[in-house]
Amino acid sequence: MPEGKIIKALSGFYYVLSNSEVYQCRGRGVFRKRNISPLVGDYVTFEPETMTEGTVVEIAERKNELIRPPIANVDQAILVFSATQPQFSDVLLDRFLVLVEAKHLKPIICISKVDLLSDEELKNIVQYKNLYESIGYDVLLTSTETKEGIEQLRPFLEKGVSVFAGQSGVGKSSMLNALNEELNLETNEISSHLGRGKHTTRHVELMPVGDGFVADTPGFSSLDFEEMEPEDLTLCFPEMREVMDNCKFRGCLHQSEPKCAVKAAVEEGTISAARYKHYEAFLAEIKEQRRY
Ligand code: GDP
Ligand code: ZN
Repeated sequence: MPEGKIIKALSGFYYVLSNSEVYQCRGRGVFRKRNISPLVGDYVTFEPETMTEGTVVEIAERKNELIRPPIANVDQAILVFSATQPQFSDVLLDRFLVLVEAKHLKPIICISKVDLLSDEELKNIVQYKNLYESIGYDVLLTSTETKEGIEQLRPFLEKGVSVFAGQSGVGKSSMLNALNEELNLETNEISSHLGRGKHTTRHVELMPVGDGFVADTPGFSSLDFEEMEPEDLTLCFPEMREVMDNCKFRGCLHQSEPKCAVKAAVEEGTISAARYKHYEAFLAEIKEQRRY
């Protein structure tokens, strides 16, 4: 039976891309009984019924799954943070990075609206760029006004499945538009525009970019650490993950434990004091959550 990838779900139909053809498929009844439903991004086996229609009969095991937008097997998150309007926030960026790392997605940081910066402000933003690059992240400075950085982003999207994320108003839809003029999303009006009809599944679609796909609906509305364990937080900071094996104690949370390699690195300046401060704040939040 042929295999393919669900690229769109709408009104109970799944649109399966297989060998450059799209099949409009229904889900097999058995999925409902087992309380699972096919998701955009799923690799599926389907039974063709006509040249363009069929039934999804099997869903391959998922690598991961996002709730918003509802997509399976996501590879990358394009984190859009505006340099200004709204003001750049490194603590919010670190929060997004932790959430993305926890899902085992590769983050790509886009600092948007750089056309609005004075030379002085730009210097400040470049320092952030350098910091995050030193940790190993890809960072692009972008503007949909001047098109700076937009073409540099495209190669990142040409493989795997990418989802855009970031606060409202940072320029995610403008960027998606700039990447795909045909898509023509209405900036700032996506959610109201797409609506949430009573009987329709929320619309998500993967748009092809080269050999990759980009979700047309930005995501990550929840910024809670949810089920994260305190010990897992270190794993979401690559620069801490790298040295944590040298901490004296297993399960070291890098607070007041003796012979802590993370704290030593912060003191030496090889780990950013600001990033460590955010780690401490997130850790406190996770511990607080677990008390309820
Ligand atoms: P979203 O909520 O993240 O999807 O943000 P939008 O794409 O709707 O953009 C919010 C506002 O910022 C809109 O008024 C855009 O025109 C504006 N905007 C987006 N990107 C840029 C940019 O690179 N430069 C400037 N100057 N304005 C931008
Ligand atoms: Zn430690």
